[in-house]
Amino acid sequence: MTLYTSGDWTIDSQFILTKAVFDFMCDKFAVLKTNDTEVEVNQVDLTDDNAFGFCQVDEDGEFLVHIHNDLTPELYVTTLIHELVHVKQTLTGLFDYDRREEEAEIWEFILSNKFWDTFQSATFYHTPWGNRVYNKNVINQGVH
Ligand SMILES: [Zn+2]
Repeated sequence: MTLYTSGDWTIDSQFILTKAVFDFMCDKFAVLKTNDTEVEVNQVDLTDDNAFGFCQVDEDGEFLVHIHNDLTPELYVTTLIHELVHVKQTLTGLFDYDRREEEAEIWEFILSNKFWDTFQSATFYHTPWGNRVYNKNVINQGVH
């Protein structure tokens, strides 16, 4: 897959985490690496959607992942992993909503821990992710 980014980009301004998570997930799930479609990660204010992220696929089979643009780096990584699991599920034909969420929640926990265990760069700590209203809004939001 080819990774693109778009939107009101506020988290991970140097794309360090985004690229690292994408590569990590491609190593974990070969179908993500070998498929020749595109995935676009779009940072956007999802406050009104009451979600951290969601995943769409268009008629050409290209994926659009929306992620709330006011997450901490930790929640951003977990959410991006969750949504890329949904991309993997679509590519492999898993469309049952409950099974998709169940599997994505298992993987997001396991793989986010593994990602941080193996992540070599501390550069992201210097990356500004301003516009934080995280503490006000986090309580009512979930990952879908
Ligand atoms: Zn989900």
